[in-house]
Amino acid sequence: MQFLTLDRASFTYGSSQPVAPLVRRVIAENPSKFTYHGTGTYVIGGDEHGRGDVVVIDPGPTLDSHREALANALAGCTVRAILVTHCHADHSPLAAWLSAESGAPTVAFGPHGDDAWDIGEDPVVDEPENDSASADDPATEPAEPTERSEPAVEESTDRDFVPDVVAVTGDVVAAADGWVITGLHTPGHTSNHLCFALDDGEVRTLFTGDHVMGWSTTVVSPPDGDMAAYLDSLRVVAGRRDDVAIPTHGPPIPNPSAFVDELIAHRLERERQVLDAVRGGLATIPEMVEVLYAAVRKELHKPARRSVLAHLVKLVDDGTVVVEGSTRPRLDATFRPD
Ligand SMILES: [Zn+2]
Repeated sequence: MQFLTLDRASFTYGSSQPVAPLVRRVIAENPSKFTYHGTGTYVIGGDEHGRGDVVVIDPGPTLDSHREALANALAGCTVRAILVTHCHADHSPLAAWLSAESGAPTVAFGPHGDDAWDIGEDPVVDEPENDSASADDPATEPAEPTERSEPAVEESTDRDFVPDVVAVTGDVVAAADGWVITGLHTPGHTSNHLCFALDDGEVRTLFTGDHVMGWSTTVVSPPDGDMAAYLDSLRVVAGRRDDVAIPTHGPPIPNPSAFVDELIAHRLERERQVLDAVRGGLATIPEMVEVLYAAVRKELHKPARRSVLAHLVKLVDDGTVVVEGSTRPRLDATFRPD
């Protein structure tokens, strides 16, 4: 499928820039293969000078440069709410600082979920490593969207984050003269992922966090990542007919329903390939990845194994695949068709 790029020349680290009416963005200087050019923190509302009452979505990582950039961008503003899509380390950590500075409450679906089961150890150890980058590592160059046939695997998690206000689908989380923001629970990338829908009476904008990104597919990594939930959450977004989706990483996505339909088709095609692999006699995740990802660089096989595990969890739950000797699918398990 066709991904979108954000031209590096189109923004400046350390300053806020308008991306839509009512919406400014400050990009943190934490480029990596998880974050593209970096985390986009959004400031919504304010007057024509960017002053007055605002809300902030995903304050971002604990980086001094980003904290200073946000302080500058919010000078003259009154922060009314701090909205957090989920608590990966590139999204939520600065919420604590901003809440202390401004007195504004943090709003999210909840803290990071507990791991529901042990997914075991990756059985493959002797292949080139390319997943040591942290989402906080500003020294890491961003991956090019065109190279990203599969996402990187592990993002570090801000387990200290606990929202002041819990929000679920349909809850009004912020409102001002002429616009309103409501929550939309979209589990899949993480179990607590919440999108935020801004309606100003003319344009419907969905802030999609990491649920839907223009530049890359989304990491869905069990046990907290859930492919079945992710597909359901994609269908929810596809059915909304928003005018634009604005993800945390990368550029706004026009006509998001059509884009999300493509994401769904892409995931279902991979699911079909995994099921065919099991039915064809491939029993372990490393065997499946060797075949299904033969054209993909070896460094990407480790994240691919997590992604295949995510599909297998769904196939086991659907009743088309059986996992041997374990109640839940693991990276080191053996699978057979049912
Ligand atoms: Zn994330």
